[in-house]
Amino acid sequence: MTQRRLSRHGGLIDAVQSVVAGNKLSLHEPQFDGNEKRFLLDCIESGYVSSVGAFVSRFEEDLAKFVGASHAVAVVNGTSGLHLALVGLGVKPGDEVFVPALSFVATANAVALAGAVPHYVDVSEETWGVSPEGLREYLSSFARVGADGLINPRTGRPLTALIAMHTLGFPADAEALAEVARDFGLIFIEDAAESLGSYVGRAHTGLAGQAGVFSFNGNKTITTGGGGAIVTSDPVLAARLKHLSTTAKIAHRYEFDHDEVGFNYRMPNINAALGVAQLEQLPEILERQRRLHMMYVKALEDISSGTKASERLGTSSNYWLQAFLLDETAAKDKNAILNAFLDSGVAARPLWRPLNRLTPYRLSPSALTPVVDNLYARVICLPSSPALAR
Ligand SMILES: *Cc1c(COP(=O)(O)O)cnc(C)c1O
Repeated sequence: MTQRRLSRHGGLIDAVQSVVAGNKLSLHEPQFDGNEKRFLLDCIESGYVSSVGAFVSRFEEDLAKFVGASHAVAVVNGTSGLHLALVGLGVKPGDEVFVPALSFVATANAVALAGAVPHYVDVSEETWGVSPEGLREYLSSFARVGADGLINPRTGRPLTALIAMHTLGFPADAEALAEVARDFGLIFIEDAAESLGSYVGRAHTGLAGQAGVFSFNGNKTITTGGGGAIVTSDPVLAARLKHLSTTAKIAHRYEFDHDEVGFNYRMPNINAALGVAQLEQLPEILERQRRLHMMYVKALEDISSGTKASERLGTSSNYWLQAFLLDETAAKDKNAILNAFLDSGVAARPLWRPLNRLTPYRLSPSALTPVVDNLYARVICLPSSPALAR
């Protein structure tokens, strides 16, 4: 990359630096301004740091209330939440599960952990989430209806589920996807790991399918250190997920009896304590993320090589990661721009390399994914810590 080509992007680098203002923060750092220390101390002083303790139920109740779900099951991370949801909803080894090629690798890994095979699909240019029209067309053109449901005629495997993801906090069209899933008899799970606080109208993301999964990793909107949760409106499923997450142990005063192969996926009390304190601050964090978005919009308004990505009309993004969409010409310089950001101390990142290009998934079935490829070529994620908002 010549200096001359890069010098065209000096305005972009300067504009982002004016927002970051010398903060050497990583891409997304948590903010602990509330009761975190108090609740953690409470865990340590009471001795309840692990698999027993009141913070877990409190966190589940507070989370369910915030998103408007009837049930929440807290687990050790988002990946385990997706894995548990797939198993709990009956996805079997050898099934194929539709997954957007644009996601963090955890979405595909959860499918593989369930013994199933991810089948990659494209996203919509508008939402950056799985395209309902695209999926319907794809299914109509190639899937075969077998005696027990949909079959991939090329592999002979059952097509049983769809996981949609709300990219960077921008809501996918989950209602339309739920309709496609219903029409084709697919289980529908939302990977809402990035979308706590994101809405379509007044409906929180993660509630349109049989289950929605959140992540509370250290880089997410709120954190429990490591953690995740599954939300559902189905009380039977919620109870089954809870049971499976706690080694499938049958409640008894002293007996160790387990009625199936379970998981050790329950969120520890100490993580839930952090989560309760973080949830209390979620409205303030969301406000900061939105303010930071406006700061970037303003700083970048005269940059001609691309645009700040904004929420669609009728939706509300949590602005978990702030994204800049390079135009086709500037996209040719993406790697040089990323290097220039890093050299100047700005923690910019590309989107995830499309999942259908990753070594472990190169042989997985995939639709053509031109929109995913285009977004990967053009999007740069900018420093997004709520602490940057002024
Ligand atoms: C963060 C994330 C997950 C889950 O990650 P964990 O680190 O296991 O909590 C899953 N899917 C997406 C899209 C994510 O961004």
